[in-house]
Amino acid sequence: MKARALVLEKQRELSLREIDLPDRLGPDDVRVRIHTVGICGSDVHYYTHGRIGPFVVREPMVLGHEASGVVTEVGGNVNHLRVGTRVCMEPGIPDLTSRAARLGVYNVDPSVRFWATPPVHGCLTPEVIHPAAFTFALPDSVSFAEGAMVEPFAIGMQAVVKARMQPGDVCVVTGAGPIGLMVALAALAGGASEVLVSDLVEEKLAIAARYAGITPVNVSQESLHEAVDRRCGEEWGADVVFEASGSPRVYDDVLACARPAGAVVLVGMPVEPVTFDIVSAQAKELRIETVFRYANVYDRAIGLIASGKVDLKPLISETFDFEQSIAAFERAASARTDDVKLQITLDA
Ligand SMILES: [Zn+2]
Repeated sequence: MKARALVLEKQRELSLREIDLPDRLGPDDVRVRIHTVGICGSDVHYYTHGRIGPFVVREPMVLGHEASGVVTEVGGNVNHLRVGTRVCMEPGIPDLTSRAARLGVYNVDPSVRFWATPPVHGCLTPEVIHPAAFTFALPDSVSFAEGAMVEPFAIGMQAVVKARMQPGDVCVVTGAGPIGLMVALAALAGGASEVLVSDLVEEKLAIAARYAGITPVNVSQESLHEAVDRRCGEEWGADVVFEASGSPRVYDDVLACARPAGAVVLVGMPVEPVTFDIVSAQAKELRIETVFRYANVYDRAIGLIASGKVDLKPLISETFDFEQSIAAFERAASARTDDVKLQITLDA
């Protein structure tokens, strides 16, 4: 099937053009008319760098993986979705017979096919075919814009699940970018009594500080360690520290700010290997968890948004028409400090 799409031709070259995309609807699939797609840091990174780690753009690839839309056709085996159902989609399609999937950790299935990760096409195109098992109905109270925010919020959900939080935990999130904010909001929804969010950029902290329960810490003005001591007592620390900046410079702080027998959850992805002090982690018996995408959290994420316990609407900075997709990517690549999430609508 030929369809119009936002295509990354190669590093630094985007076009809005016709491209051949798969069109076969299997018995377990649904066809979805795309409504809204969020622009993710990874989409922008493929545009500006042409690669993320081992994933290299070698052929033209459709971008986008944070999507909501409306079901327009269902396969013969599909029972939980109907034509007209408003939905959002998990962009990763694992092999459900794989060892990882059978263990319940399909996010680390080595054969997972993930939208807009080379060589798999993404969803910035008017229509996609997707497995119904990874397509989720949106309640009426959840807008298409919020539906397209479920994907990044799911990473926050995964981080909180991995943290094994307890009610009343004091948490730290290093990095107030989109993912740091998602982690902080998921931690509050998961029972945190307070989340200290650190960054160097005041505009980002100001957005975080709009939420009750979040305390901004500008580490260009005060040390994170001191802010945590003030909240948790001298030389104790936070119950959970989430690293969401990807900066190689924060690891000393991350280890220093976790309490004895606390947890450290690594969410940010540093570009290069980093060194950190294992003995200082051992001396507190810190539990270190890592996060790669998410598994089995979409339904809970949608539930929290639908209930009003998590409000992602203030994080949508601007919305572009599909025809302005390239301008939207230029804006995202310019990394304005007051932009959190830019979205594109295809079905206005
Ligand atoms: Zn994303």
